[in-house]
Amino acid sequence: SIVVTGATGHLGKFVIEGLLEKVPAEQITAVVRSEEKGAGFAARGVKLAVADYDIPETFDGLFAAGDKVLLISGSEIDKGRVAQHQIVIDAAKAAGVALLAYTSAPGSLTAALADDHRGTEKALLASGLPYALLRNGWYNENYTEHLAPVLQFNAVTHAAGEGRVSSAARADYAAAAVAVLTGEGHENQTYELGGDVAWSFAEYAAELSGQTGKEIANNPVSVEAFAGILTGAGLPEPLAAVLAGVDASVAKGQLVVTSGDLTRLIGRPTTPIADSIAVALKA
Ligand code: NDP
Repeated sequence: SIVVTGATGHLGKFVIEGLLEKVPAEQITAVVRSEEKGAGFAARGVKLAVADYDIPETFDGLFAAGDKVLLISGSEIDKGRVAQHQIVIDAAKAAGVALLAYTSAPGSLTAALADDHRGTEKALLASGLPYALLRNGWYNENYTEHLAPVLQFNAVTHAAGEGRVSSAARADYAAAAVAVLTGEGHENQTYELGGDVAWSFAEYAAELSGQTGKEIANNPVSVEAFAGILTGAGLPEPLAAVLAGVDASVAKGQLVVTSGDLTRLIGRPTTPIADSIAVALKA
């Protein structure tokens, strides 16, 4: 079987959809925390397994020898994700899966947000399992799903300076995961995944101006000021620090990915940020 954790998340849903186009539904298992949330998959013949990264025994017997598994990283960044992921790795190891693919972060990223990914990669390599590291670059949607304050203040406020981001749509990264799960020869490979085009925040603001017909300014601020703006908007301080740290990394060019791995895996160009902006503005 092909088994996908985090299947009811934004990325996971695209992965299951992509798998359904390529393999019979009964060969797919969606690992979900809530059976209710997975009901749509079950209705289409996808098997459901209910498990939680925080409860090791829920993964007992979940995997079978020969399975290809996609471990989608957890989203609760204050929960000790390396330990959470270790539970999945241990269960996969006990079962003897054929491949454990993991959604990581670019190798160039040194921001605190990447620590859990580096820790999980280390644990995965130490397990001796056949692995595939899907080092996902940034999602277009990290920006385009948060346009409300931009449109309210007519400004893109950031601490990335003139740094660029090779982002791509979630659907692009999902398609890459599907290619790895359904293809051959991906064992022990590391993929640096990112969009074909790296854009700056000045270009992003200009694209938003063009599409909205409003004058949307590029508003670079310091990392400290940006963290303050985020906490002022109601974000908890630790999260604000993590996000400001990401912008500091962008300023250093750490979210520019030039490998071409993503477009190669999916066999088509990646989705331009302009397309994701258009989708977001229509929603
Ligand atoms: P989502 O937050 O939409 O999905 C996270 C998934 O992880 C959900 O299905 C969630 O389950 C599941 N999950 C979280 N905690 C647990 C747990 N304790 N046990 C079992 N499952 C759990 O994120 P995306 O799908 O957009 O992104 C996937 C992952 O990629 C994120 O979790 C994060 O690690 C990372 N990410 C990457 C970004 C990038 O730009 N590259 C940006 C943002 C996140 P449930 O559906 O039940 O909530």
